[in-house]
Amino acid sequence: MNAPAPCPFCGAELVPQSAHTPSMGWLHPPAAEPGRCPIAAGFLLRPIMFEAWNRRVEIELGFTTLDLAPVFNDKGEGRPVTASFLNACFDYVRKQTR
Ligand SMILES: [Zn+2]
Repeated sequence: MNAPAPCPFCGAELVPQSAHTPSMGWLHPPAAEPGRCPIAAGFLLRPIMFEAWNRRVEIELGFTTLDLAPVFNDKGEGRPVTASFLNACFDYVRKQTR
């Protein structure tokens, strides 16, 4: 079994739980900065989770607007979606539904 892919949230390299038996699982190292990674504290990647962990989806998310509202697409059409823009959209929707 190869090494797991880096953490999708912070990019940290996971380390074998046991130096003698690497296939027992991999631990996420402590986060370099507090709050930088949502799974850092005590996360153990078990061998049964390995394939799912290494599966990464590469999409180019874009958005266009319809009646001033963003419409997202996975073909990269329109303007590129940034994390801050997406979070602003979630925040807006959250405020509208309270
Ligand atoms: Zn992480």
